[in-house]
Amino acid sequence: MISLQNALKAILNDESSRQAIACIHGAEHITYGQLFHHAALLRDQLDAPRGNPVLVCGHKEPAMLAGFLACIAAGRPFVPIDQSLPAGRIRQIAEITEARHAIICNDKVSVSGVPLIDGSLPDQSSQDAGNQEPEDLFDDPVAGLETVYIIFTSGTTGEPKGVKIPMEALNDFLNWTVNSLFPAPPVKKVWMNHAILSFDLSVFEVWTSMATGGTVVALESASNRNVRAAFRDLSDNNVQLWVSTPSYADLCLLDPRFSSETLPTIEDFVFCGEVLSHGTAQAIKRRFPQARVWNLYGPTEATCATTGMEITDATLEAHTVLPVGWVKPGTQIHLDAGEIVITGPNVSTGYMNRPAMTAEKFFTTDNLRSYRTGDRGEFDEAGTLFCIGRADSQIKLNGYRIELGEIESAIRALDGIDAVACVDLRKEGRVTAIVCCYCGIEHDDGSLKQSLELILPHYMMPSRFMRISELPLSINNKIDRQAIRRLFK
Ligand code: AMP
Repeated sequence: MISLQNALKAILNDESSRQAIACIHGAEHITYGQLFHHAALLRDQLDAPRGNPVLVCGHKEPAMLAGFLACIAAGRPFVPIDQSLPAGRIRQIAEITEARHAIICNDKVSVSGVPLIDGSLPDQSSQDAGNQEPEDLFDDPVAGLETVYIIFTSGTTGEPKGVKIPMEALNDFLNWTVNSLFPAPPVKKVWMNHAILSFDLSVFEVWTSMATGGTVVALESASNRNVRAAFRDLSDNNVQLWVSTPSYADLCLLDPRFSSETLPTIEDFVFCGEVLSHGTAQAIKRRFPQARVWNLYGPTEATCATTGMEITDATLEAHTVLPVGWVKPGTQIHLDAGEIVITGPNVSTGYMNRPAMTAEKFFTTDNLRSYRTGDRGEFDEAGTLFCIGRADSQIKLNGYRIELGEIESAIRALDGIDAVACVDLRKEGRVTAIVCCYCGIEHDDGSLKQSLELILPHYMMPSRFMRISELPLSINNKIDRQAIRRLFK
């Protein structure tokens, strides 16, 4: 059985593992030893009680990883906060978690109301100067059912909800990604990190890499606008494992240079977070004939991913809608009136400080935690799972999980708005935009967006707004979302 704490200790105690590169970010190459030294300095400043969460704020700098390690060492859960989150949302997260410290890794993130710790890494020469190894770093780390991280996702009630992941769950997940998902354990591999660290997809590569002494090549979000720069980073660093949402691969596929000629070292494409279409999987296999393609599925509430399988030529031949695979060892999935319910040690211990929300979605039987996903599923005769949609108004846009109800609450709170409904527009089954109808005083789109930017992340912003006299209703007196979609056609 893998234990992250023991794996980190083993790296700390071995000279050559300490000198291995843990993280590459642009021109920065940071070794495990350097990360551990910085983590030890940060840990010593985390003087609030064990268990109190720490906001770790920034973007892709290696200092973020040092911040996470410092929290693990100090027995404190870390809450990754990406610089793209608006100040209002960070304030909500600080309030919900009752965080007593925020580690600040760059100056683009603005946090108030929480004591700040400067998390930026000193320059390399001063890091190397005569420091003793921090041998005691992982002597009393987060363990068992103690929360290791809290990732915030969109919530229907107008505020984000914090998913608590205990160390037991992270270790259970790593046991799968390290020991049984791939044909051989991915030891000392070079991983791509595309997802922002506050999105749970990043757990896959960051912690699988850390547990196996590997290297993470961190791409800035700007790589979405400049895929060629990303290809350069990936090829210069001989990246072997690609991890992203299918949406990012689709963006890359628009560029003919995205092929095994440009990226010859890629062995595996791991996709998770949203539907992997047949077309995307097929295009990747054509451009990278030597690589394997994996489709993984799972919510943040069950530690990143719970099912997975390799998508082979035979899978593509047999299915037009791709399966999401088999359940990882140690976890069970059953269908409750078609809804996917996950049971096992990888399930979260609930939403931080939100017992009512937790009771709605989680339950425990014989000490085993279960989570009702809201996803509709089906098994075929071979026991392969298919995820066939949602039973509610949660959507995925470019891999981001969004509750339309949260956007509606934010808009309803603005002056002069009486009623509001947001809907998703789709093309070939995939969400391409969120649009909004409202009743009340006319607002121009610019000022609506400006007010919402203070509280909603950019990826939740509706692209169009329309004022109407009243919201259309169906015969059951529910908002007629199809009728709203037609208004925007
Ligand atoms: P998140 O918590 O952001 O990881 O989002 C989890 C949700 O994304 C799941 O509950 C599904 O609705 C969706 N999802 C994740 N992976 C897949 C997949 N491979 N295929 C279809 N939907 C997926």
